[in-house]
Amino acid sequence: MPILSAPSHPLSDEEVGRIRNDFPLLGNELNGRPLVYLDSGATSQNPISVMEAEQEYYEQRNAAVHRGAHSLAVEATDAYEFARTTVASFIGASPDEIVFTSNATEALNLVAYSLSNASLGLGGDATRPYALGPGDSIVVTEMEHHANLIPWQELAARTGASLRYIPVDDDGALRLEEAASVIDGSTKLLAFTHVSNVLGIINPVAELVSLARGVGALTVLDACQSVPHLPLDVAALDVDFVAFSGHKMLGPTGIGALYGRAKHLHAMPPFLTGGSMITTVTMERAEYLPPPARFEAGTQRISQAVALGSAVNYLAETGMDRIEEWERLLGERLVVGLEAIEGIRVLGPRSGQPRIGLAAFDVDGVHAHDVGQYLDSRGIAVRVGHHCAQPLHRKLGLTASTRASTYLYNTTDEVDAFLTAVAEVRSFFG
Ligand code: PLP
Repeated sequence: MPILSAPSHPLSDEEVGRIRNDFPLLGNELNGRPLVYLDSGATSQNPISVMEAEQEYYEQRNAAVHRGAHSLAVEATDAYEFARTTVASFIGASPDEIVFTSNATEALNLVAYSLSNASLGLGGDATRPYALGPGDSIVVTEMEHHANLIPWQELAARTGASLRYIPVDDDGALRLEEAASVIDGSTKLLAFTHVSNVLGIINPVAELVSLARGVGALTVLDACQSVPHLPLDVAALDVDFVAFSGHKMLGPTGIGALYGRAKHLHAMPPFLTGGSMITTVTMERAEYLPPPARFEAGTQRISQAVALGSAVNYLAETGMDRIEEWERLLGERLVVGLEAIEGIRVLGPRSGQPRIGLAAFDVDGVHAHDVGQYLDSRGIAVRVGHHCAQPLHRKLGLTASTRASTYLYNTTDEVDAFLTAVAEVRSFFG
């Protein structure tokens, strides 16, 4: 698929102004004020081209893929597989290493349940190296989103393996000096987030992967907050599995992807079983198709995959390097501004340190839900709560925080409007 080349000059407020014209929802008002959407970490908005791609699919090509004899089914199959190729080239993978899922949560559960099935002996000799049992360990970090924690808790419970974690320090950074002892000869799998959805911190993938490789453990990267925001190449990262969601990267809801290193996907047993993933079925047993079909049981999310392909093209045409740089600038502006407001504690890296364009914070004496409601009354949409990271909040001594998260369509004026409103919060509730 032609991933089109992007301009090389940096993004600017002027160019972002043009980008915003592609996103109809951003022109709306919220509570009588121009909407300032700072919740892309939860879900991003869609450009017209993505919505049109989905509509065009339904108007012109809608059919069940991979099984029709008629030309429409061939066209639908081509569109679906074309989307897979587009997503694959976006992250440096080959198409048969991309499994479409509903979202990142399903992608992570897919790996966990496949390993669970291998542990039950399903799939025979080929799957034996993927089995876990008592004496084995699974390692995660203390900053994980629940989607990259609970599936591993459950896998540990089902197999008798233990679950360990790499702790974070008081600022939320991983205590890497402890990682080397947490990951040891018993470790079969290391699952960690590339970028924290609370701290905005970018974890040292190379160091963690090298520790896992050193003991022969599989690596699973939760890339929900990295694939949408920075250039990512799975070969360079050298990870075994990568999970991400379409709705956080300008695509529709209901579609996500799992990258799996080809040799693993070929050896691992399926998670869901049924139609579309088999070669021969008798009343006693079934033979499975090779990946990715082996992991895509039943009728798939075809229009959503097509629209995700369109979203990827939009990002590639804009340029992931430029998006990363623009969001770094917005993130720094957010943190510098928040640090300057009395009574605010920013979670994660201080200003001047690398982070994506996302910042969560606590306002002394004001509950996050009140902060969120005040900002909402000013037309500003942010996320409040534990952001599906309760253990991390507990470690930081909080039950909830307020999070502002930017994307390629946010301007510096929006960040400033947000900072002005945050500065009013304590006196409003005081
Ligand atoms: N991991 C991280 C870091 C996230 O930020 C999210 C979503 O907020 C998820 C996993 C789960 O994504 P989804 O709900 O789309 O499956």
